[in-house]
Amino acid sequence: FSHGKPVPAGKTPVPGIKHIIAVGSGKGGVGKSTTAVNIALALQAEGLRTGILDADLYGPSIPKLLGIEGQPAVRDDGIFSPHEAFGLKVMSIGSMLTKDQAVVWRGPMATSALRQLLRETDWGGLDVLVIDLPPGTGDIHISLFQQAEVDGVVVVSTPQDLALIDAKKAVDMLKRMGVPMLGLVENMSYFIAPDTGTRYDIFGTGGAERAAADLAMPFLGAIPLVISIREGSDAGQPPVAAAPDGAEAAAFRAIARQI
Ligand code: ADP
Repeated sequence: FSHGKPVPAGKTPVPGIKHIIAVGSGKGGVGKSTTAVNIALALQAEGLRTGILDADLYGPSIPKLLGIEGQPAVRDDGIFSPHEAFGLKVMSIGSMLTKDQAVVWRGPMATSALRQLLRETDWGGLDVLVIDLPPGTGDIHISLFQQAEVDGVVVVSTPQDLALIDAKKAVDMLKRMGVPMLGLVENMSYFIAPDTGTRYDIFGTGGAERAAADLAMPFLGAIPLVISIREGSDAGQPPVAAAPDGAEAAAFRAIARQI
């Protein structure tokens, strides 16, 4: 109660982590995990010691995106040693689940798994931890925002109306929970045909930028729909690591520099 500031109930720093950035979306399939991985790699390319925590219980895809398999090692004292990929420290809620288990997990089990992954992992000293949230808003979000100081959230959306409406709901929840919004990213923003160079606005365009303006928050940038992003993701070779000088990497790095 010092200085008249309310003491955040139960929020304790995570040892060895200076900053936490979460990446969310209103719904699944909009490229949230792809964005989270490439932003993490881009932050690392800026010289920050970076880790990524996959908290997307319903579709943990970070291990695949980074070409990681199996469980993390557990030390004698019960603390996890995270996987490493492209210099990133990596933990995933997926490695705590057997196949199809997520659908039957109740909230308390999911939130205690998240707490364990966050606090019982030897992150080895990070400047920033990027957390890939589940889509939408739920127990995992509430638990994370209540227990840890999250520096801010990046919300990923496609330009489509439906995805944007869902993203607005996510933004609304963040506001109510007092979590800072870092800004909105428009993914699958447009497609440039590699053979003709013609641009197609497959899901419409500019929707996220307009929504960001409506919601008075920063618009962090647009990522085009590019075949190599999908191929690289499937092959465990995200563009920022596989082709750091390419156009796709540049788009993610420009976003990371604004965070
Ligand atoms: P989410 O985390 O929102 O569910 P993902 O990051 O898993 O979404 O992406 C869903 C699918 O779309 C994946 O196959 C991914 O490779 C692909 N994808 C995401 N962003 C792009 C993009 N900009 N261009 C091409 N494919 C993309």
